[in-house]
Amino acid sequence: MSDVRNVIIIGSGPAGYTAALYTARASLKPLVFEGAVTAGGALMNTTEVENFPGFQDGIMGPELMDNMRAQAERFGAELVPDDVVAVDLTGEIKTVTDTAGTVHQAKAVIVTTGSQHRKLGLPNEDALSGRGVSWCATCDGFFFKDQDIAVIGGGDTAMEEATFLSRFAKSVTIVHRRDTLRASKAMQERAFADPKISFVWDSEVAEVLGDQKLSGLKLRNVKTGELSDLAATGLFIAIGHDPRTELFKGQLELDEEGYLKVDAPSTRTNITGVFAAGDVVDHTYRQAITAAGTGCSAALDAERFLAALA
Ligand code: FAD
Repeated sequence: MSDVRNVIIIGSGPAGYTAALYTARASLKPLVFEGAVTAGGALMNTTEVENFPGFQDGIMGPELMDNMRAQAERFGAELVPDDVVAVDLTGEIKTVTDTAGTVHQAKAVIVTTGSQHRKLGLPNEDALSGRGVSWCATCDGFFFKDQDIAVIGGGDTAMEEATFLSRFAKSVTIVHRRDTLRASKAMQERAFADPKISFVWDSEVAEVLGDQKLSGLKLRNVKTGELSDLAATGLFIAIGHDPRTELFKGQLELDEEGYLKVDAPSTRTNITGVFAAGDVVDHTYRQAITAAGTGCSAALDAERFLAALA
């Protein structure tokens, strides 16, 4: 068993590194579990980020995350490229176990484990990520001016992405595996009324086509099995997200979709001394800057909590 730390941060995206930077600058010597294979978070898998303020010409996702990491380290954050495999957050002293079985103790814990976008599970999908395939219209829509775009999904997110993309795109085709949408009436109506948006019903993606860049999709009609081609240079996959909250089930309160619940606008969870920030909490915005913003809030909340203990 290690000494009792002030604060342990679980997760290393923009939320985790920002929380690390702030708590390190407050001399709290944070211990940060970055994740074994996914250190740096979601932006490690993307190319250019054009909407993180302060980078006039844009910055590559991995470079942005390396900068955040180095900035946190400069002020004394201790970074460990390992996964947390178990937690006990219920007592006054919280424990966090790493993959080697070592138990780490802290008075406060900040959870920033992010969320995972659901994938289609097709071979070319990851290879063409950032080369035509995207999971975020707000992030990448701008790159698809005057292009033919396919959006996969039938819920609110898919409709929102499609109506947003239709501002830039030549055309937007929504591909949905059923013949009705799950999206709210208002979102459906907006999509139906948009002259640039059309629908392919009862269909799923059988293949993502393209070599270095996306060139189109092979679709399969789920009722007839018939295959067809859809030409597209942009593919937005909007079939949902899974927040990484498995570790915390039974301890931290989750909402009906599995996201961590906080006492907003604070980052306090239902357990005193445990704070949460970034996409593991956020259904709505899911941006690097909002994750960094709430990471900052979590650090300040933890700092005040620790000051009150002293
Ligand atoms: P994440 O970045 O998801 O980081 C969480 C990290 O926590 C994980 O990756 C992992 O390393 C770690 N972790 C998880 N579980 C554990 C555990 N048990 N133990 C230890 N560590 C753990 N946003 C923008 O603003 N602009 C963009 O251009 C943009 N482009 C994007 C492109 C892609 C392809 C994707 C997927 C997302 C993009 N986003 C963009 C969204 C942005 O990346 C996310 O909103 C942001 O990264 C969320 O930050 P986070 O810190 O909450 O979580």
